[in-house]
Amino acid sequence: MKCMKCNERAVIRMRQHRLALCKDHYIEWFVQQTQRFIEKYHMFTRDEKVLVAVSGGKDSLALWDVLWQLGYHAEGLYINLGIDEGLHYSNESERLAREFAEQRGLVLHVINVEQAHGETVPEIARRTRRGRDKPCAVCGLIKRHDMNQAALELGFNVLATAHNLDDEVAFLFGNVFHWNLEQMRRQAPILPESPGFARKVKPFCRFSERETAAYSLVRGIAYIEDECPFAEGSKQLLYKDLLNRLEEVEPGAKLRFYLGFIEARDSGQLVLPREEEVPLELHPCPRCGQPTTSPGLCAYCRLFERESLEASETQRPSG
Ligand code: SF4
Ligand code: ZN
Ligand code: ZN
Repeated sequence: MKCMKCNERAVIRMRQHRLALCKDHYIEWFVQQTQRFIEKYHMFTRDEKVLVAVSGGKDSLALWDVLWQLGYHAEGLYINLGIDEGLHYSNESERLAREFAEQRGLVLHVINVEQAHGETVPEIARRTRRGRDKPCAVCGLIKRHDMNQAALELGFNVLATAHNLDDEVAFLFGNVFHWNLEQMRRQAPILPESPGFARKVKPFCRFSERETAAYSLVRGIAYIEDECPFAEGSKQLLYKDLLNRLEEVEPGAKLRFYLGFIEARDSGQLVLPREEEVPLELHPCPRCGQPTTSPGLCAYCRLFERESLEASETQRPSG
């Protein structure tokens, strides 16, 4: 298989794009495509500072690497969740994120949940009803809150995450499958900023996982190869598997599904009815200051209100 630009040996063949490229042309293509997506969806400009949410995995380190190569002012944010499960998952991913930043002279901000709250994410989750079996819902809440707060406190109005096409398509598939209209309304390559919320952007949302992995590989990026141990058996992984099987028989199916949805919704062809026409009233949480619809503390701060949490847990209706 030959590179379609220079005839050297190709390192990747992308059936959905009808393209095969050598190492150098693949890096060039990948970086240029990212720039194209940033411009197409008006994600950010060169005058804006971007905070990249870094997990130590292939996607987030690849995103930071590409933004660095493109000359953006991009700093990293790593949240140590305290997940160990015999794999030293969090400490090892923090080590790789720090190593990546040091090699390139980039700034990495680190939040350690255990140091901040005296408990790891799995420990916090175990105290709650919804996190007793699996910490993912609580973990997601903590990550979203800490990322947004860090972005605002550090003076970034743009927060970039490395969700790729496979993540987005699996999420969309799950939302369609369960008719989760509220999530379908909010799923987009960019969520504009609003008072108290940084702009959220996903510059990799049109790259498949295979493409981001290939980029990390050819760039020699050392990343954590293990998945979070709690991801095993998740619906998201099941959907990814199903969609990959579909992609095998119908190359480009994932991209068409995702882009078709975004275009239909944004052009008004697909109208998602609103359950609640009244705009949500947001006010600052009295403890952390972040916007919340709840009359008292926000959902994040309530996680650390042990007494009220235990009371609400014992009061839940039976049956
Ligand atoms: Fe958090 Fe791991 Fe669950 Fe992801 S899989 S939400 S990192 S606990
Ligand atoms: Zn080439
Ligand atoms: Zn709060």
